[in-house]
Amino acid sequence: MRKLAILGGPSAFAEALHVGRPNMGDKTRLMQRIQAIVDGGWLTNRGPSVVEFERQVGELIGVKHCIAVCNATVGLEIAIRAAGLRGEVIVPSYTFIATAHALQWQEITPVFCDIDPASHNIDPKLVARIITPRTTGLIGVHVWGRPCDVDALQDIADHYELTLLFDAAHAFNCSHKGRMIGTFGKAEVFSFHATKVINTFEGGAIVTNDDQLAGRARLMQNFGFRGYDDVVELGTNGKMSEVAAAMGLNGLEAINGLVAKNHANYEAYLSCLGAVPGLSLIPYDHREKNNYHYVVAEIDEGESALSRDELIAVLHAENVLARKYFWPGCHNMMPYKRLFPDAGILLPATEALAGRVMVLPTGTDVGEADVATIGRIIGEALANAREVRLALKSSPLLSAPHSLISKFDARFPRFDPSRRIL
Ligand SMILES: *Cc1c(COP(=O)(O)O)cnc(C)c1O
Repeated sequence: MRKLAILGGPSAFAEALHVGRPNMGDKTRLMQRIQAIVDGGWLTNRGPSVVEFERQVGELIGVKHCIAVCNATVGLEIAIRAAGLRGEVIVPSYTFIATAHALQWQEITPVFCDIDPASHNIDPKLVARIITPRTTGLIGVHVWGRPCDVDALQDIADHYELTLLFDAAHAFNCSHKGRMIGTFGKAEVFSFHATKVINTFEGGAIVTNDDQLAGRARLMQNFGFRGYDDVVELGTNGKMSEVAAAMGLNGLEAINGLVAKNHANYEAYLSCLGAVPGLSLIPYDHREKNNYHYVVAEIDEGESALSRDELIAVLHAENVLARKYFWPGCHNMMPYKRLFPDAGILLPATEALAGRVMVLPTGTDVGEADVATIGRIIGEALANAREVRLALKSSPLLSAPHSLISKFDARFPRFDPSRRIL
């Protein structure tokens, strides 16, 4: 084998392999769809493409209402408001920052709950201890598309009279006990951001079987307009445009092929990394529908010859842009780091996982031969760990990402307890 790039060899890939490179579907069909929109002159405000996209998503999920939105963050904000949440809402910290921001943006306090280290999802056993008289709801996140323990969360919600929502940004085309994600809780929100399994450039959808919530969300998404001139609610502009929906229809047409490709890549990763000491790939339940959109490795620093950060640096040198995920956890990001500087005390599993996860490239631009090469790079690096570690000491690849938090520290004042939001 050629010399590893970190040890002075050439990079294995001339062009970078990314995590979350957009899946396009059939580009000719996409251009035809966009041409038809331009010719028709109906660009937004619930045109035929959005209506058709909502219909197809609703049908695939088996849910009564689908409201396409401009992105999942605004979708979460609208769902949260339409559900009447206030005060405090319990969320995992191991999620994309938008889950927390969608609450804090409307001055609702996200209260971070730790996760189950096996599922990576909010641990229902830990929820009850952080419920207060101000708690109005919980938001579960189906991380990597693997379902939350929805039954246990629904029991807690029922018992304490809380509203249960789900951030299903990762979980389009996934199921739980044979029922599609998108049908649980009071409402769920999908993301169709460019990096997700299917995309609408930017976009998302609120899905629910609750007529009342759907009605309010539909109004709020369009400034509160009922009809041409009558504003009956406080609203925002959360509309999806026609070209966005055209991309979404293209993705829906291609989804079975995309998922099959992701599944094949996942199996290829398993076959070359399945037996590497200290490294494990998260399993998917093959009886369920999965989108296999995330290939997630956990690196056990006690057993692996190289740490997670060292392996990422080795891969970056080869032009394989593996990523940490949800590191360092929402509670370690602003403004939460300033508002709740001690939140980490209750989040040991979150902090440990954020230090352990490495997400590997997959999707339509990654072939099984590429996966085999990535497997060889990792094997080779671990076999030559001492030499690699020495080379990394003088490499800028390893130190760069860590500077982020200290930069924030310098810019924001220390936490002042008298200004705590409670
Ligand atoms: C992508 C993502 C979001 C935000 O979606 P946008 O459509 O980019 O606003 C929210 N939550 C999670 C878990 C995500 O991965």
